[in-house]
Formats: sequence, C-alpha cells, structure tokens
Amino acid sequence: MKLLVINAGSSSVKFQVFEMTNDLVLVSGLIEKIGEESSEIKFELHKAGENNSVRIAEPIKNHKEALQKVAEILLDKENQIIENKEEIKAVGHRVVHGGEKFKETVIINEEVKAMIKELSSLAPLHNPPNLQGIVVATEVFPEAKQVAVFDTAFHQTMPPKAYRYAIPNKLYEEYGIRAYGMHGTSHRFVANEAARFLDSNTLKLITIHLGNGCSMAAVKEGECIDTTMGLTPLAGLVMGTRGGDIDPGVLIHLGSKYNLSIAEIDKILNKESGLKGLTGLNDMRDVLELKEKGNIQATLALEVYTYRIKKYIGSYSAVLGGLDAIIFTAGVGENSPFIRDASCEGMEFLGIQIDNSKNNVRKKGVRIISKEESKVKVLVIPTNEELEIARQTFSIVK
Ligand code: AMP
Repeated sequence: MKLLVINAGSSSVKFQVFEMTNDLVLVSGLIEKIGEESSEIKFELHKAGENNSVRIAEPIKNHKEALQKVAEILLDKENQIIENKEEIKAVGHRVVHGGEKFKETVIINEEVKAMIKELSSLAPLHNPPNLQGIVVATEVFPEAKQVAVFDTAFHQTMPPKAYRYAIPNKLYEEYGIRAYGMHGTSHRFVANEAARFLDSNTLKLITIHLGNGCSMAAVKEGECIDTTMGLTPLAGLVMGTRGGDIDPGVLIHLGSKYNLSIAEIDKILNKESGLKGLTGLNDMRDVLELKEKGNIQATLALEVYTYRIKKYIGSYSAVLGGLDAIIFTAGVGENSPFIRDASCEGMEFLGIQIDNSKNNVRKKGVRIISKEESKVKVLVIPTNEELEIARQTFSIVK
C-alpha cells in the first residue's frame, strides 16, 4: 500500500511517499517559501540503489498549488512512483495539537477538522497550516483516506499529577490550561525502536529529543508518564532560541518594572533565548565551535544546556522508579558526543556509564554508547517522525 505523509507549515509543505508494510520511502521532498516569488521545490527519489535529487525554483502561490505540485511529481512517469492518484490509499497528516480530545491517531472527518480548528488557540502557529494541509490534500487526493497523527497524543497517557499546574482549577476547567507536551511522534518512535532493539516491552526509558526544539519524556512500558514541554513548547529544556524552564515571576517583573509588552516578552522567550540568548548563536554546531575556541559564553551556554538535561534525567529516574535506558535523538542528540557525555556525566551512582570509545564513533542507525557493565543502557536512535506517521496511518487504514 502506498501512503503519502504531509507536514504542512505556514509557508512550507514536507512530503514523503511510503510503500508499506516494508517502510520503503519512494520519494521525499520539501516545498518552501510558499506565497513568495522565490518558492522552491526540492525532492529526492529513492530508487533501488540510487538517490536522485531534484531542485526546481518556481513560484507557488498557496498550499493548494503546493499539493497539486506534489501530485504532479508523484504522477510523473519518469519518477515511477504512481500511475494514478488512486494508488495513494491514505494521506497521513502531522497535526501539532490534539488537546485532550485526541489520544490517538484518527481518520479525519468534518468533526475532526472542526476540533483541530478549535484547538488552534493552543497552537496558533501550527494547527491552522496543518488544517490547511488537510483541506487541500482532500481536494487533490479525494479518494484517499485522510488521517491525523497528533504530536500531543503520545503524552495523553500522563497522569493528572504530571500534567496539572498548581493554579486555580478554573483555569484548567475553562481554558484547558495544563501540560500537553510536544514531539510526541518522535518520542513514541524512538521508545518503540528501543523496545525492539532491547527486546523488551517492560522498559523504563527516558527519551531525549535534542533538535532545534528540545524535550524529554519518561516512558514506562511504552506509555508516556511525564514530559518536559507544557501548554506550549516553551517549557523544559534549553533550545536553540527558547530558554525552557523559567521562574514565571520573571515575566511579571519584566512587564511591571520594565514595561515590556506581552508581544515583546513573547519575542524574547520564543526567538531570543536559549543558546541564542546566551551566545548570540542558535545553531548547536556553531556554539560547539565557539566553545572549542575557548569562548566563555559558549562554555556557559553548554553547561546550562546539559545541566538542565541532567536534572531531568534525575527527576525522571525518580518518577519512573528506576531506569533501563536513556535514548538520545534528533539533530543534536544523534550527532554530538560532547552533549551526550556532558548530560550523563557524574551519574555513575544511577548506573549510567558512557563508553567514550563508542560515544565518539560516528555511525548510522541504532547504537549503544554505554559501557558493557553500565546498568542503564545509553542509546542513540535516529528519529523518523515521517515513518512513525506512515506506520500510524497504515495501522488505522489497512
Ligand atoms: P533538528 O531540529 O533535529 O534538525 O536539529 C537541528 C539541530 O541539530 C541544530 O541545532 C544543529 O546545529 C544540530 N546539529 C546537526 N548536526 C550536528 C552535529 N554534527 N553536531 C552537533 N549538532 C548538530
């Protein structure tokens, strides 16, 4: 069965076609700068034994045109992906916020669309373009089942003591103010891969997603019991441009003493904090390079970044009541031995022992970087959110 996976952002659409059940990617691509003159279409064909990259500069006015372009690429005889649109049996959509309503993947109908729209108040930058992707995909692929895979769904198994904030009940009951968590598709994917790799379904895991956005989850027997992001993706770990946990009093102080507006505080927290706030640079590779040159700010930023991870490893070991494995994933987690080592440093008392001869080796695929005798296994597992969306979509439409 062939499935199309769509991740629609405000000015971009990412797409991949999978052949299931063998997880085969036939094509993956990205249409960027939708609505601008300088839009660009990039895609890669994954044919047996060869990878062909194509890049086309062409103005794409809106999401509908983008999806029509995707259909054209898929139907192009030379690309050998599909011969007619009906071959795409389902379209799996990434949807960022499913609130409390969506605990799992669902087939999209009018009611689901209305709920995604309603939930836009909780993810104003993400849910509206996700919904737009659904609407245009239904027009362009009318025969395919449309499926929504929510980033928040994996975290819906958290108990109230983990997701409730100690603020007046009314704010939860009337406005839905609670922790929802993000990156759920990635945490679910790597937790499942770890269970397969370690051949056990009864594991106590900590999954650490370190990309531009960063979050951690405590996962017990495949279910999330706590996570670092909250109502919004601003909570928890230090990220590229977001600082993570902060005393909420700081925000009141900035407003009342320095007259900063909500919009200014929003900009500081979302765009000017994290690694960027501490060093002026948001890309981890650049910050690591600065540290190598002896830059004091970069050294401090990396200490703050890894200290926060370490604090959550300790905290999640406590809530899990033990720990079998730690999993590092995403851009930083998969590629930086320094960050992995510094985050786990000094935790031998918990049974965590990194083997630096394994940690420093660059390798693809799932790998163990802890010492043979380490009670807690430390793993690097490349995340693959698109594949997880394809698997979820397949499991519901097959
Ligand atoms: P993602 O959001 O998963 O694409 O991750 C993006 C982040 O991964 C950026 O901060 C990159 O600097 C970081 N990254 C990518 N490659 C490396 C690398 N080799 N070493 C350290 N960080 C990296």
